[in-house]
Amino acid sequence: MNLSKGVKDCLFRLQGLIGWARSPSQVSLDLTHKCNLRCAFCFYFHDAVPAAGEGVSSAPVSWKVLVRQVIERLPTRDYFLTGGEPFIYPHLETLLIQLKEKRKRVYVSTNGTLIDEIWAEKIVRHGLFEKIDISLHGPEKIHDELSRVKGAFQKTVQGIEYLQHYKRKIGVARPMIGIACTISKENIPQMRELAALAQRWSLDTLTFGHMSFTTSPIIEKHKDFSKGTKMGEDFSLSELILGPPDHGLSKEDIGLYIRNLREIRQDFSSFFRLLPVPAYREEEIWRHYFDTEWAYLRRCRYPWRTLRVTPSGKVIPCLGVVVGDISEEGADHIWNNKNFRTFRKTLYQTGLFPGCARCCKLK
Ligand code: SF4
Ligand code: SF4
Repeated sequence: MNLSKGVKDCLFRLQGLIGWARSPSQVSLDLTHKCNLRCAFCFYFHDAVPAAGEGVSSAPVSWKVLVRQVIERLPTRDYFLTGGEPFIYPHLETLLIQLKEKRKRVYVSTNGTLIDEIWAEKIVRHGLFEKIDISLHGPEKIHDELSRVKGAFQKTVQGIEYLQHYKRKIGVARPMIGIACTISKENIPQMRELAALAQRWSLDTLTFGHMSFTTSPIIEKHKDFSKGTKMGEDFSLSELILGPPDHGLSKEDIGLYIRNLREIRQDFSSFFRLLPVPAYREEEIWRHYFDTEWAYLRRCRYPWRTLRVTPSGKVIPCLGVVVGDISEEGADHIWNNKNFRTFRKTLYQTGLFPGCARCCKLK
């Protein structure tokens, strides 16, 4: 049924007031916080994570629990697998087969280094993914420097080449493959080079994402606000979402980013889809970095759309708010339980939390 925007807004207002949501349109599974790379800006390999039992040492939830408590209980079709590095999850293949049997569409965000020839053939032959987004921070030298693992770039390239080889050999268009690059001081000058690589590898998309960051005054404002609510936020987990206090980019860097984006759009648009995320207008790019009070949207609908499960099986809509645990309760119950509805109601009444301003889910 296609509802008009007015009807959708009205329905959302009603759902907002009671904190209720229809079945999630997507499920996001953070399969592990472990990763074989060491990116300087990454949330996950730092020691910040283990505070809430979510750290690198915690045992991942078993695939059987994911199937029984999430996949079989929700009608949701779209699954996003992420991490850490999802290919480290020890039961990945079994989980993918289960998702395939239940006709789910699966998307994955990976660094691509663990996609060897055997994985590539299985992925393509059995249609295990709809799309694979591969994080690449720039051309070889920049990527290896930023990921702090020598040879990481070459391993990723090999993964992409294996996948493309089997797509050609078997004659299929899936999985779509894209590069996802978060812009930084180091890689903005190399954006065109990255676009040339995306063309050479016949990729489907090239995404330039903006940095998430939250200034210290905004973090303090967020903490004060959150302590006055009944959400029960665990701030050691919130830090994962709020990001570092500064972006480290100058006005010259952003000017160059905007020029590069224009040129790439002009010269490469027939080869792949260019996806700056969010799809800011130029003025909004400037505000993202230099007007810290500004937010792209005034409302966030992510917790009405997405059920997110952490490696240990906790359900966390975002920030550090734990609303349930799939080891104890089915995802269908957690989705509209008291904790989740309290979180949604608080968000709806506030519009956005102070810490939301640079969240990547506002797109
Ligand atoms: S590849 Fe991703 S998960 Fe791994 S260290 Fe880098 S940013 Fe973190
Ligand atoms: S913008 Fe939405 S998803 Fe992001 S931190 Fe705020 S409530 Fe959570």
